[in-house]
Amino acid sequence: MKPTHNKEIKKFSRQLSGVIFNQWSRNLFRRKESLFWLKTIKSQIIARKIRKSALSEGTFVPPVAVFSITNRCNLSCKGCYANAQNRDIQNEMPAGRIASLISELSDCGTRVMIIAGGEPLMRPVVLHEAASHQEMILNISFLVFQLP
Ligand code: SF4
Repeated sequence: MKPTHNKEIKKFSRQLSGVIFNQWSRNLFRRKESLFWLKTIKSQIIARKIRKSALSEGTFVPPVAVFSITNRCNLSCKGCYANAQNRDIQNEMPAGRIASLISELSDCGTRVMIIAGGEPLMRPVVLHEAASHQEMILNISFLVFQLP
């Protein structure tokens, strides 16, 4: 099945490629950083090939996934989308299942992941697991955590 929002996906991919290439060129003379960005470029090229191959067989794989790993949060903002949806804060997906889903996503060619919540730092085990997937580009939205 072809995605109906193909234009947006192409635009996203172009922008992502631009960001990655920009980071690599900025760090060209820093060995460690340059190698990191080269590995990232390689991983994203592989991911794109996997997605393209899946699409040729009729399966659309998104380039990016958003994972809401918890509904818990240490704040209670007035306009909270999580609270507005009356989400169940007890019934979270087990960390082991999330870990295997991340591996599956990576194998399928989704290698950009946005980790959201609630407050993602409420589940450090999941964050460590996600960070161990170095082929993934992670964006974690945890700007609101208050230290004790
Ligand atoms: S920080 Fe986010 S999840 Fe937490 S209460 Fe505010 S809007 Fe909701």
